[in-house]
Amino acid sequence: MKFSITSKGDETSNALAQKIRTYLLDFEFQYDEDQPDIVISVGGDGTLLYAFHRYNKRLDKTAFIGVHTGHLGFYADWLPNEIEKMVIAIAKTPFQIVEYPLLEVVVRHNGGSEASYLALNECTVKSIEGTLVMNIEIKGLLFETFRGDGLCISTPTGSTAYNKALGGALIHPSLRAIQLTEMASINNRVFRTIGSPLILPDHHTCMLKPVNDVDFQITIDHLTLLHKNVRSIQCRVAQEKVRFARFRPFPFWKRVRDSFIGDR
Ligand code: NAP
Ligand code: MN
Repeated sequence: MKFSITSKGDETSNALAQKIRTYLLDFEFQYDEDQPDIVISVGGDGTLLYAFHRYNKRLDKTAFIGVHTGHLGFYADWLPNEIEKMVIAIAKTPFQIVEYPLLEVVVRHNGGSEASYLALNECTVKSIEGTLVMNIEIKGLLFETFRGDGLCISTPTGSTAYNKALGGALIHPSLRAIQLTEMASINNRVFRTIGSPLILPDHHTCMLKPVNDVDFQITIDHLTLLHKNVRSIQCRVAQEKVRFARFRPFPFWKRVRDSFIGDR
């Protein structure tokens, strides 16, 4: 089996990554940065997002494992003092794989070009200058004209990230769905939006169409992109999934409790 390790880059994470690498090589695993079967992320969720995007062209062949060093690590299963246990668990393959839904985003430009992305957490759309004004179509029907700071479209595992800060619901990742939340919408006698987060199932495509301005700041997880001359931004549940290697049960709701409530 081939593995690669992505480190947050700080001293603690690098030392831990080195230790994991030595252990796995001892078990006669091969280190392969280009075509790994398993990718171990050492750091926080940001590190895991980075690893996901690095290997997003071979998601069907890659399983991710998270080790967290200090940061929140919502996606991470292992603590630094457990890595011996983790290496033994990896060596005792086959292990269980769990799959979670992803968000597919297609940005189409007026010139005819397009760019597509997969997000593990979410996509956000903000204007470069002034109020964001967007027509929101759901399954081909105009739903509303949004005016405000921005829009966030998240995956179930991303629902605990930015989406949570926007008052969105936490969605169990066994549900193939995406969630659309508003950032400070303008609501008064003149302008109106639904106000509530919307949860869309598989095949319910959400299309954002610019009303005036055509230049936007679009984020895909930790990446910030500038898109000019945008005709539409299409969001839906992706065909692709992310795979995590699971060695022991770690239910989603326990993950949520550990991350946000703690031992009270
Ligand atoms: P960051 O600024 O370190 O991320 C903010 C926090 O979100 C960190 O504590 C991070 O955990 C945590 N996080 C990331 N994914 C999560 C998830 N799925 N569930 C629960 N918490 C999660 O930047 P980053 O590490 O590069 O992460 C990028 C993400 O930050 C974006 O995808 C977005 O969701 C989030 N974000 C949130 C807000 C907000 O809440 N207002 C604003 C901008 C971006 P670690 O400490 O382990 O990295
Ligand atoms: Mn981070």
